[in-house]
Amino acid sequence: MFIDTHAHLYDEQFIEDIDSVLLKSHEQGVNKIFMPNCDLSTLQPMLDLASAYPNNCFPMLGLHPCYVKDDVQHVLENMQTYLINANRFSAIGEIGLDYYWDKTFVANQKMAFELQIDWALQNALPIVVHSRESTQDCIQIIAKKQQGNLTGIFHCFSGTLDEAKQLIDLGFHLGIGGVLTFKNAALKNIIKEIDLKDLVLETDAPYLAPEPHRGKRNEPAYIPLVATILAEIKQMSINDIALQTSINANQIFKNHN
Ligand SMILES: [Zn+2]
Repeated sequence: MFIDTHAHLYDEQFIEDIDSVLLKSHEQGVNKIFMPNCDLSTLQPMLDLASAYPNNCFPMLGLHPCYVKDDVQHVLENMQTYLINANRFSAIGEIGLDYYWDKTFVANQKMAFELQIDWALQNALPIVVHSRESTQDCIQIIAKKQQGNLTGIFHCFSGTLDEAKQLIDLGFHLGIGGVLTFKNAALKNIIKEIDLKDLVLETDAPYLAPEPHRGKRNEPAYIPLVATILAEIKQMSINDIALQTSINANQIFKNHN
């Protein structure tokens, strides 16, 4: 049994065939799927999906850094009202910093990241972190906020071995997805040095499909393709990969296991 710790299943790319997407993922042994939020507009579609599939699809609450603009204060105030039902969320995510697409709102991104980490701490929830060309700043903020209780996943990890170790020392897991299956992926050499107990599997569906589906729509059913490569790197059986990464994910998402 596998767990997909990161899939945007409420995305409009899945509206037409969500039932068959979930059936396919079930056939591949992927029965638990955690859904990171993006902004206010994605919250209701995500919660509707979670209600329709209460044993398979689990929602997170959070404002994605790419959606942080100058109205961030208003958006966060609005989002915060959902914390009345904090228990229905498995994490605060995805939150973090993204310097790749747009650096206009970096100060707002940092403010939003810190505030949402506080939400996580106040409600004893893990965080799911999105970082792009901002790993050092993310690590700095996490280190500042870490007083022993903060846990979570650094999703789609793309940093150096040293950064990986810093994050693990800070109590974080690394989310590993389709990139691991790409030819010449430098990530393979880093992951070789990381203990399996510090890793979780993810797709980031509909993005970042693994080989041989690269460039097409990604879906949770492709998790075993990532696990197969991880099994090769670790020289372990795919069953052992499934078992340990699921134990890890269930430990992180305590609300939903
Ligand atoms: Zn994502």
